[in-house]
Amino acid sequence: MGQKVAIVGSGIVGASIAYELSKISDLTVTVFDRLPAPVEADLSVCPTSTGAALGVLMGAISKKEKGHGLQMRLTSLEAYETLIPELEILTGSVIPFNRQGILMLEFEEDLTRWQRLVEIRRSQGLTLEIWERDRLSANFPHLRLDGVKAAIYSPCDRQVNPVVLTHALIKAAQQNGVTFRFDTAVTGAIDHELHTPQGKFATDWIVISAALGSTPLTTAMNQPVEIRPVLGQAMHLRLDKPLHTLQPVITGNDVHLVPLGGGDYWVGATVEFEENAVTLQPDRAQWNAVMNQAIAFCPSLADAKPIRSWYGLRPRPQGRPAPIVELLPGYDQVLLATGHYRNGVLLAPATAKMVRDTIVEAGSGSC
Ligand SMILES: Cc1cc2nc3c(=O)[nH]c(=O)nc-3n(C[C@H](O)[C@H](O)[C@H](O)COP(=O)(O)OP(=O)(O)OC[C@H]3O[C@@H](n4cnc5c(N)ncnc54)[C@H](O)[C@@H]3O)c2cc1C
Repeated sequence: MGQKVAIVGSGIVGASIAYELSKISDLTVTVFDRLPAPVEADLSVCPTSTGAALGVLMGAISKKEKGHGLQMRLTSLEAYETLIPELEILTGSVIPFNRQGILMLEFEEDLTRWQRLVEIRRSQGLTLEIWERDRLSANFPHLRLDGVKAAIYSPCDRQVNPVVLTHALIKAAQQNGVTFRFDTAVTGAIDHELHTPQGKFATDWIVISAALGSTPLTTAMNQPVEIRPVLGQAMHLRLDKPLHTLQPVITGNDVHLVPLGGGDYWVGATVEFEENAVTLQPDRAQWNAVMNQAIAFCPSLADAKPIRSWYGLRPRPQGRPAPIVELLPGYDQVLLATGHYRNGVLLAPATAKMVRDTIVEAGSGSC
């Protein structure tokens, strides 16, 4: 093929695409990001969505029974099983990847829907278990089960550190010949040319994986794709010792408790929408509601030491489902890989494969 691909954005989505494309020897791949360096951890205001993410990978435990969205989730989950060890070998990094599953506390009496999902997942080759309260308290003695009717345990689901993973993807892509140009904002583009303040860049394909930055960029290209921010706050807490021997992600009423090893946990996240186009700022009351929920099912957290709190913005497509992985209307070789909203870490490998397939199939059709 011998084609050039320019990727805009080096968050988890752009980095995953870069690594996937780096395995195709006759593609020349360049990634542009307006930030001066790869995504950072340890900030209180995260300039990228990836830097704020908890990395919870909800595949089997998603309530979706079938369809493209579920297929993307399951493709990604399967991909992660080999991707993580592959990246660790290639880069020498250790990528925190929790293989102990996800435990979801259920507050509804009626479990019919879950019983049905257990059967569906079995037919899809996946395990979901419904745990009674007795089993729950025997395995998780620190949980307070007020109002909890049962729990759903999903041993196939995972959690990964999004920042460490993104760094490993970037490093592996660089080792395979991908060029990363940081501090380079893309201000506009036509089919075969990117515009940056440093000059123009000729390319065959453009992949827009710029999350919230996709809206101004596609507007400059006269095909606006509206992606709006949904703010999420989270916190890193430290206890003297781990809560339980088994350390899955525990989730209840949409609040996640993510074990990091030892007595360290992430708690999050709020889901805060824009009101009347007022610039989003973290809402203390919404954070308190998340923390109170976490303490309600895990009282020991009330005594935990706060290590860091942060917030970031999730990229949510306006008026259509997440994510958007398709050609930009009116352009032959501009691909959108954006708007992953609450599941960009989960969906990144499947997104990367879709982008690869589109580029490879188009190349095999040409002379
Ligand atoms: C609090 C919180 C918790 C979350 N938890 C989870 C979770 O548990 N599991 C999960 O799967 N997802 C989670 N998410 C969602 C997930 O973080 C996002 O879906 C994902 O990070 C999106 O990745 P991205 O690469 O598209 O975006 P980003 O990480 O935002 O990356 C976009 C990149 O594009 C660059 N860019 C933008 N415009 C331009 C331009 N014009 N030129 C050059 N570069 C540009 C930016 O600098 C940035 O580096 C969470 C999000 C938040 C906020």
